[in-house]
Amino acid sequence: MGLLWRRELWRLTALVTIGALLGWPFSLAAWGIIIGLGLILAYHLRQLHALYDWLTHRPQQEPPAATGIWGELFDRLYRYQKGQRITQRRLRSTLQRIQESSEAMRDSVVMLDRHGDLEWWNSAAERMLGLKPAQDRGQHITNLLRDPRFVGYLNKRDYREPLSLPSPIDENMMLQFQITLYGDDERLLMARDITRLHRLEQMRRDFVANVSHELRTPLTVLTGYLETYSDMAEMLPARLARSIDQMQGQTRRMQNLVNDLLLLSRLENDQGGNDHVRLDPRSLLQAVERDANALSNDRQRIEISVDDPHALWGSEKEVHSALSNLAFNAVRYAGDGAHIQLRWRSCPGGACFEVEDNGEGIDPRHIPRLTERFYRVDKGRSTATGGTGLGLAIVKHVLLRHNAHLEISSQPGQGATFRCIFPTQRLVDIAANDEPGAAQCSQAQTPE
Ligand code: ADP
Repeated sequence: MGLLWRRELWRLTALVTIGALLGWPFSLAAWGIIIGLGLILAYHLRQLHALYDWLTHRPQQEPPAATGIWGELFDRLYRYQKGQRITQRRLRSTLQRIQESSEAMRDSVVMLDRHGDLEWWNSAAERMLGLKPAQDRGQHITNLLRDPRFVGYLNKRDYREPLSLPSPIDENMMLQFQITLYGDDERLLMARDITRLHRLEQMRRDFVANVSHELRTPLTVLTGYLETYSDMAEMLPARLARSIDQMQGQTRRMQNLVNDLLLLSRLENDQGGNDHVRLDPRSLLQAVERDANALSNDRQRIEISVDDPHALWGSEKEVHSALSNLAFNAVRYAGDGAHIQLRWRSCPGGACFEVEDNGEGIDPRHIPRLTERFYRVDKGRSTATGGTGLGLAIVKHVLLRHNAHLEISSQPGQGATFRCIFPTQRLVDIAANDEPGAAQCSQAQTPE
């Protein structure tokens, strides 16, 4: 028991004893005790009133003067209050600094609570997203950003990749949205103005498309003349005939390159989806097998198998082109005598086309970069086999337009497997006349 507390008990005992002793000679000891207790009660009531008066009317000022346990109580309360005030001031200034720095940011910053309702935003968010401080606080974010692509992104809760969309108040302003989860399931939404980058990207795409398009006519003329000269090969000196043969090979390569560049531009530029139909996987694989056999010329054994009962909803031209690229790569890189298998089978989350070979395989360090344009493991070999370096980039873009993705697994010396995985919403009954829901098949974002 503390010293102050003991002293208080002593004071109580002393007063009661004095009261009892004073009343004793008059046979009024009980009254003496009552008066002693009453005095103590009056003292404590007075201090309680002083405490109440201080906390209610002037909490910022010094506490009332008191001794003993009340003095200690006042002092402790005063110190505690002072500490609280300092912490509060510090927190307020930290919050103010955070808000000031967010205000100074050129990117929009929006804080959403766990339900997705707007809590706070900076002035850039007002400028870019049209949020209004007076009306919009507490509103659900999807009441203001209504684009279905944004709603899908918000609800999917997979925020690893950003989402690019035009601003809801200015079609010409391109924004990149990125969401971060924090605290108690709250979300921080950041939007960055990428209009300039987007325009540059568009210029790059247009430039490549235009150059490829312009190269087509001169190339056709060259090919035509070279064919004519090649028909007259016996009449030409042997050296010239050889040169013409080489020129023909190179113009063919250039033509393939131009065609692949034009196809990539088209895949990047138009939204697609207009030519989507029910595709029978078996006939698709048979067509690809026929072309691959023609390229292989019996140097490899090619087999097909269909193990999933569904049909695929997609563009025949695009899916055929993706599968051909994979099958032709297997023919070109697996080597003579290889076994190539083309499959349609069930995969976790959907179904997949698989192209597997037992050729030389690929070193795993190259795999993450294989779908980059013009990335080759062995440049000399790729050129010699007639590759343009764009095959897997085309496959990736085709799959993106079908909400699908490419998985590559390979070990050097143990062959390679390329898997095009289509989600369940892309699968349809092979016989029925149904069509997957339009919302489910909405276009995936083409990466920049
Ligand atoms: P390319 O026109 O050079 O074939 P691709 O984009 O189609 O371009 O392929 C990129 C690279 O991936 C190729 O250069 C090749 O080195 C490698 N590759 C693709 N498929 C296979 C395969 N089945 N086996 C081994 N390597 C492969």
